[in-house]
Amino acid sequence: MQLTDKFGRKISYLRLAVTDRCNLRCQYCMPAHGIDIVDRKELLSYKEMYRITRVLSELGVNKVRLTGGEPFVRRDFVKFLESLSFNDKLKEINITTNGALISNHIEKLEELNINAVNLSMDTLQREKFAQITRRDVFVNVYDTFEKLVESNLKLKLNIVVQSGFNTDEIIDFVELSKDKNIAIRFIEEMPFNGKGQRKIDEEWNFNKIINHIKNQYSVVETLQQKKSSTSKNFKIPGYLGTFGIIPAFTRTICGDCNRIRITATGMFKNCLFDGGVFNVRDFIRNGASDNDLKALFIKTVHKKPENGFVAEASRDNDVSESMSTIGG
Ligand code: SAM
Ligand code: SF4
Repeated sequence: MQLTDKFGRKISYLRLAVTDRCNLRCQYCMPAHGIDIVDRKELLSYKEMYRITRVLSELGVNKVRLTGGEPFVRRDFVKFLESLSFNDKLKEINITTNGALISNHIEKLEELNINAVNLSMDTLQREKFAQITRRDVFVNVYDTFEKLVESNLKLKLNIVVQSGFNTDEIIDFVELSKDKNIAIRFIEEMPFNGKGQRKIDEEWNFNKIINHIKNQYSVVETLQQKKSSTSKNFKIPGYLGTFGIIPAFTRTICGDCNRIRITATGMFKNCLFDGGVFNVRDFIRNGASDNDLKALFIKTVHKKPENGFVAEASRDNDVSESMSTIGG
């Protein structure tokens, strides 16, 4: 059985937010005072998350990304990873993290065969890091970065391109791929910051980012696009690593989307831009069986909107929630 939508897209990838809490306060993600976090009992329990993932894996989902909020803020997150790793239907378990709390867990992640870690680090400058995240933890995050480079985990480095903040470092980041086997990924900033559109001086979209890079190098090699990849990928000839751009806001990748999301409170989302389709937590707490869950997932995925613009148009409120609630 393979979950499929009405456009024939096979859904095989779940992004699961394990918490809405975070130790940082990135300007593009949430206001300085943080978001209104929900009561702990409103969060999915690990048992519920395990069950949802198991049922989805029986419907053809073979890849899961754990995100948040900051996943490592939730107590016993590593134990949860361990239990997920027993599900042999999952071919890949990936994690997105800000890296501030994980340097002691890297060996364990290697042991658990975690496929890839996406580390978010938007600048290579300590003061700027503190300004963007409103926390002075660059030293810890950079330490994690170095340890991850040395580890045998696949490493992707996420950089939200923020007009007027870090666009002067785009080339410094590309240069990191010179002697490190890592995937640099520039992400277009989206309006998910818990308070609606943020004032942006100049829009740094996919085209602007790639043109900026192409102006600096005589040759930029375009890499073969892996179907359903979120990024368009490139390489500077002779460099060990690669770089990519995620057109998160211009949404030119929806045609090959294989993803669904479940937020920390159990809201099922067919698309990053939709307002949430139904609450799996309530359905489970009202006594749903595995077969009920399966029937609901099949029915809901079938209705996945064609692209992020259609999804956004279907909302009855503006896209203003924080990425930490949605699960980035
Ligand atoms: N706390 C973890 C982290 O920062 O990696 C995981 C959750 S975070 C919401 C997941 C990803 O979403 C991060 O790479 C973050 O940079 C990105 N993100 C958050 N808000 C965003 C926004 N408004 N536009 C684009 N990307 C955003
Ligand atoms: Fe926290 Fe990640 Fe949002 Fe930054 S992007 S505030 S680290 S959830």
